[in-house]
Amino acid sequence: MKRRLHLVSDKLCTKCGGRCCKTLPGAAEPKDFGAPNKKILIARVSAALASSEWCFDWWEGDPRPGRRRERIERAYFMRPAVKGHVGERFHPAWKGECALLTKKGCSLEYGERPVGCRGLKPIPSFDCQPAYGDKREVAILWVPYLGALREAGLLDGAEHVHANMLGWLGLGS
Ligand code: SF4
Ligand code: SF4
Repeated sequence: MKRRLHLVSDKLCTKCGGRCCKTLPGAAEPKDFGAPNKKILIARVSAALASSEWCFDWWEGDPRPGRRRERIERAYFMRPAVKGHVGERFHPAWKGECALLTKKGCSLEYGERPVGCRGLKPIPSFDCQPAYGDKREVAILWVPYLGALREAGLLDGAEHVHANMLGWLGLGS
């Protein structure tokens, strides 16, 4: 397993004011919600969605490199909502300020933050890149849990969202 480094920098991040949080919320991995225990994961994901401050984002296509058989159409993962989209269960985004960002910084304790936030490597230019926990990496980790999420009804409505998006893009049938 990849070694997870502790990357937060109080000094640099305070000076920066959370440029990363204003760009896009970090992605969460299943462990952030109690995996590998699926019961705990479902309970925690349900509670997070009910709070309206979290949503499903997704990787379009199968995120597993080189996968030829039993490919999936898209891989959902959890992340905090983007301001202006709070309460939307499905929201794909490449830009937007995290709903959990307050004037005093992140409203979560460091250990409760998504892996995509914990994995950012602070640098003086503030153009920080993830050392671990990027979208594709977490999307792969969620694949074994998609069936449980579906069974629990937590992905209900996803197809409707995708059909609407394709229609909006003029790609619907
Ligand atoms: S990780 Fe980088 S962009 Fe994010 S708050 Fe710290 S210094 Fe700023
Ligand atoms: S969860 Fe916290 S650290 Fe992560 S993007 Fe949101 S405000 Fe920033």
